[in-house]
Amino acid sequence: EVILSVRNLTANVDGTPILKGVNLEIKAGEVHAIMGRNGSGKSTFSKVISGHPDYEVTGGEIIYKGENLLDKEPDERAKSGIFLAFQYPLEIPGVSNLDFLRVAYNARRKYLGLEELDTFDFEEIVEEKLEVVQMNPAFLGRSLNEGFSGGEKKRNEILQMALLEPTLGILDEIDSGLDIDALKIVANGVNQLATPDNAFLVITHYQRLLNYITPDFVHVMYDGRIVTSGGKELAHELENKGYDFLDEQALVEV
Ligand code: ADP
Ligand code: MG
Ligand code: MG
Repeated sequence: EVILSVRNLTANVDGTPILKGVNLEIKAGEVHAIMGRNGSGKSTFSKVISGHPDYEVTGGEIIYKGENLLDKEPDERAKSGIFLAFQYPLEIPGVSNLDFLRVAYNARRKYLGLEELDTFDFEEIVEEKLEVVQMNPAFLGRSLNEGFSGGEKKRNEILQMALLEPTLGILDEIDSGLDIDALKIVANGVNQLATPDNAFLVITHYQRLLNYITPDFVHVMYDGRIVTSGGKELAHELENKGYDFLDEQALVEV
């Protein structure tokens, strides 16, 4: 079953073309990784999928579960099961983590035609999910991400993901700034959430994360396109060769 199908996708930021024809197909049960140099368009691609208003789609299509995703508002995309974990999670003073999670959780439930949960019932559910990211329940009472360490913020993102049970989870450089212990917790969290019915897109600059989250497919983004795809061995190859060889390849193609 195809979850996401991207064809010839082009997009601008501030009138500048950034995505220049992205093609990608993701099926249920698969984990895909996108690697690539800084500035190659990886974050732009994840933001276009989530529907971020600063990113203007100029061509191509994104089909999500058989429907045209580009017709849908960002909140509808989220409620229909697309989850984007951020590289720099927001801090929201005055909003408790628990309340924030409950609102997001109930929005998804409502969309699925399920009854919304009150704080009491919701707390029970969150407490089960805390184990996925080995988080202390005390975090639930604190303001969203305020004063959280880098690792705690990322774990909190995975906690949100665990609660929302996305169909397509996108992790954009979730590994940046994480020490090895936090990296393993985050990676284990993702591994626990992967099922035959959902899919993950893991965006990373470094191969290191892919030692813990094993992708079925690795893609290389270069200048707004996916220029090479392969299996997990491609990540190791890139680690050894660096990204510079892509410049030579690009010259040859011109
Ligand atoms: P990556 O995630 O691969 O590092 P990005 O998608 O963040 O790459 O960036 C691709 C290009 O788009 C870069 O040249 C970047 O400067 C530009 N870009 C991204 N977001 C914006 C923005 N909001 N405003 C202006 N330029 C942007
Ligand atoms: Mg799998
Ligand atoms: Mg990026």
